[in-house]
Amino acid sequence: MKLGKYSFGVGDRFGMQAKAQLEAMIDAKQAGIEIVPVWNKSHREHMIIGTEPASVRAKADAAVKELGWNLEYYVDADHIGLKNVGLFLEASDFFTLDIADFIGECAAEKDIAGFLYKYEKYSGVLELDQIEDGLYIGKDDIEAAARKYLLAIQEAGKIYRNIELVKGVGNFVTEISMDETDEPQRPVEMLFILAAIAEEQIPAETIAPKFTGRFNKGVDYVGDVRQFAEEFEANLAVIRFAVENFGLPLNLKLSIHSGSDKFSIYGPIKSALKKFDAGLHIKTAGTTWLEEIGGLAVAGKDALAIAKQIYAESLGRFDELCAPYERVINIEKDKLPTAEEVSGWSDEDFYAAVCHDEKCRKYDANIRQLLHVGYKVAAEMGEKYLGAVKKYEDVIGRNVKNNIFERHIKPLFID
Ligand SMILES: [Zn+2]
Repeated sequence: MKLGKYSFGVGDRFGMQAKAQLEAMIDAKQAGIEIVPVWNKSHREHMIIGTEPASVRAKADAAVKELGWNLEYYVDADHIGLKNVGLFLEASDFFTLDIADFIGECAAEKDIAGFLYKYEKYSGVLELDQIEDGLYIGKDDIEAAARKYLLAIQEAGKIYRNIELVKGVGNFVTEISMDETDEPQRPVEMLFILAAIAEEQIPAETIAPKFTGRFNKGVDYVGDVRQFAEEFEANLAVIRFAVENFGLPLNLKLSIHSGSDKFSIYGPIKSALKKFDAGLHIKTAGTTWLEEIGGLAVAGKDALAIAKQIYAESLGRFDELCAPYERVINIEKDKLPTAEEVSGWSDEDFYAAVCHDEKCRKYDANIRQLLHVGYKVAAEMGEKYLGAVKKYEDVIGRNVKNNIFERHIKPLFID
């Protein structure tokens, strides 16, 4: 298995949108670009909704069969660690090893010394393709990176070998994720993280750093777009260097987590990919669930009432629902409308607030982020929610497909 150049992670919280999501990849193919669909669901999402990894595999396989997709696709065990990898071994063929919790824990001194001995030759200015001034690397940068990341990568090695033992070498895709941390990883750190990955002999095909700026769930990028673009390009150059010099897989590429709805950086990402002839994995999930909610709001009176109920309950359970996502949301709580206000809204009012159109006067990033984490409320509604989504599957499916194809795939890979 070798992950294709462009791949798109889609999440389907309630297992009802796999077909609509795959239709977006079919549209892309018809527009001349091959994008590998990857259905991702994290342990966190499974726990909150009460689903099993096998359900993701079943829905993905069914959609692929029904639409006659004969190209590659994967099922991603997203953000897993040693404690829960076992649950995903059978259903998944893509594993995102989350090492965030181990960053900053220090490896054994002898390991750090060995790493420094081997890699200190890179101190100074490293010349990189298409990076004007190269990359300045101080000796202290190498040591700091080793102290901060070496143990975390050793942990990734343990998880990787657990999977390899069961699945066999080359039968699955490995991603390493570090996005849910407090501080971004700079390109210099990325270089030595990749060195450590090579030392652990992990054949990583994608790596998800925390980039500079905020990647809040379901809303646009917040930060300095120029700095992001500069670091993104430096990361692409660093990856190329690492592939050539450390012996990592040739198709190793960046993965952007919480990648949906980051419209203001898609332009710079697209031009950087072109400049470096690089691949990309972009991971999304909640953006599809928000299309379900938005679709319900416009579908019918009964469905609008469900959408409003989900808002009201999410607001009432704010702290509980936000806690698992604290690093990837930023909601101004005092700016959220009350449940009473929202209960008076028309279908158009509700849709305008939730639909991601920043030019729309009623668009509300706070509401969108709250609803993003509010899927637990829908899960607890059970049949009431699932039945409504099923009843209005045409309008919702259309929204889901258009959201992925028009708002994400087109600006990133086509336009
Ligand atoms: Zn992530």
